[in-house]
Amino acid sequence: MIQFFNVTKKYDNGTLALDDINITIEKGEFVFLVGPSGAGKSTFTRLLIRETLPTKGQIMIDGKSILRLRGKEIAYLRRKMGFIFQDFRLLQDRTVYENVAFALEAMAAPISEVKRKVPQVLAMVGLEDKLNNFPNQLSGGEQQRVAIARAIINSPSILIADEPTGNLDPDNSLEIMKILNDINKRGTTVIMATHDSEIVNRVRKRVVVLKEGRLVRDEARGGYDFE
Ligand code: ADP
Repeated sequence: MIQFFNVTKKYDNGTLALDDINITIEKGEFVFLVGPSGAGKSTFTRLLIRETLPTKGQIMIDGKSILRLRGKEIAYLRRKMGFIFQDFRLLQDRTVYENVAFALEAMAAPISEVKRKVPQVLAMVGLEDKLNNFPNQLSGGEQQRVAIARAIINSPSILIADEPTGNLDPDNSLEIMKILNDINKRGTTVIMATHDSEIVNRVRKRVVVLKEGRLVRDEARGGYDFE
């Protein structure tokens, strides 16, 4: 469970990025975090991964404050999380297999586990026949699927997706949403920051709307209209 209590984030230059945010996200939920550019979505996710600290308030994950963690504990916290970005962030000089294996090897996984798990997770995202391709030999949608495989290979309890469909056409976007939905159904909490109102309106999950740093709407099965 993720809890924000009266969280305010003011950057050093005086910008009030988040203003008194209160929210609880239960384990296994799927949450769209929406709002116009500058609304505070990235600040929210940066606070969650303990990349920055709030000016005021408390943030708890599984009942424990994440504000006073030290180096090793921060690394441990992030191991519970997987990340997906708009621009995929794959290693261009490594194959699909190697991109995903790298994330497991970074956790000192034994080679037998790497050999077993990497093809398994790539099959889950429908890329079992692209193991030896390089990223530039894949479509955008396929590249994002590699990024998803990499994000979930360590079985994170929370998956944070920052505009994952931002660079994709509608068909590929829907494909990515199907995969994220499958991952969520297996018990992973998914938090997806997005501008993509078509996706939000189609998928019908919990929608949390930020506007100028304030949480202005929170609906269990919401939609989203741009103003
Ligand atoms: P979003 O992700 O919704 O576009 P952000 O969280 O990136 O919103 O930004 C919220 C506000 O905080 C914006 O006004 C932005 O300019 C400001 N901001 C973001 N990061 C910083 C920073 N590192 N220093 C100062 N201001 C920042």
